[in-house]
Amino acid sequence: MFKAIRIDKDDNGYRAALTDFDEKDLMDGDVTVAVSHSTVNYKDGLAITGKSPVVRRFPMIPGIDFAGVVEASSHAGFKPGDKVILNGWGVGETHLGGFAQKARVKGDWLVPAPDGLSAAEAMAVGTAGYTAMLSVMALERQGASPTQGPVIVTGAAGGVGSVAVALLAKLGWRVMASTGRASEADYLKALGAHEIIDRNELSAPGRPLGKERWAAGVDSVGSHTLANVLAQTKYGGVVAACGLAQGMDLPTSVAPFILRGVSLIGIDSVMAPQALRREAWARIARDLDRAKLKSMTQTIKLADTLRVAPDILAGKVRGRIVVEI
Ligand code: NDP
Repeated sequence: MFKAIRIDKDDNGYRAALTDFDEKDLMDGDVTVAVSHSTVNYKDGLAITGKSPVVRRFPMIPGIDFAGVVEASSHAGFKPGDKVILNGWGVGETHLGGFAQKARVKGDWLVPAPDGLSAAEAMAVGTAGYTAMLSVMALERQGASPTQGPVIVTGAAGGVGSVAVALLAKLGWRVMASTGRASEADYLKALGAHEIIDRNELSAPGRPLGKERWAAGVDSVGSHTLANVLAQTKYGGVVAACGLAQGMDLPTSVAPFILRGVSLIGIDSVMAPQALRREAWARIARDLDRAKLKSMTQTIKLADTLRVAPDILAGKVRGRIVVEI
């Protein structure tokens, strides 16, 4: 038996609790991992509260990512003692996840922990931070560079946003951070933001085109915010869309695309191919300032995930939460 957060849905309703879980009830997989750390992501908040139907199998152990040490393996790429990271692949949604002392998964889903990044640091980055890195890499692939002008980061005080601000600042960008929390201005400036924008400037319906303010963007908010980010992107600029904190909709027009040659790039972390994952984790190990990572991270225990799940959905969580298993 091991400790886990377990979600059930039956005649008694939808509920999550800290319980003992029987190892024989783990799902199929060729690698068993002793999980040392996980994180609370937005999607974990949805899973634990049941606010959105991200969990598609019951019982479920939530936790879309984890770091730990291989305990048993019949996969050629991993042996006992190897340090590994997992993000996505439906773990915590359709496959039992990381809010547990043990996980059994397909070895093909695992990434070897990059040198120089501890398990706690890897989960301080977590899916949110790795998604921020995928977004930065997407901007670079499109030829975006700090010489073209500033970059905007929306949802800046959240997990994706905080890591994106720190990464982009380290890479030499002038970062404009959009946040609804004026009280987090000093926090965002310490991460490297040059300018703070009130998110109300972007969250209401706007015009198809506005003043050209930034050359690039990382958007974790969606909806009108992303539409306004596109409308105010400079000629030839590029925006990476990775989130939906404001909404799933995108009430925009073709104007930014056909009149200013703006590119909108989609970012998915869940099914991203292995080569991209490994590149993203290697870049994180290289390009993310550890002191800044520490400043954006709080650490909680497994049982506390139940308490913070509604907070992350309410946009009350600053930066990243590591779960020490
Ligand atoms: P967080 O809750 O940590 O951050 C989201 C931030 O968005 C909040 O902190 C807040 O920032 C802002 N926000 C919240 N509600 C609103 C609103 N109604 N209008 C405008 N801004 C709002 O979540 P994460 O950073 O972990 O995730 C951000 C988004 O990215 C989520 O939608 C998540 O599902 C998505 N995501 C997508 C992935 C992918 O593979 N594409 C992977 C990981 C996450 P502030 O207080 O600064 O305004």
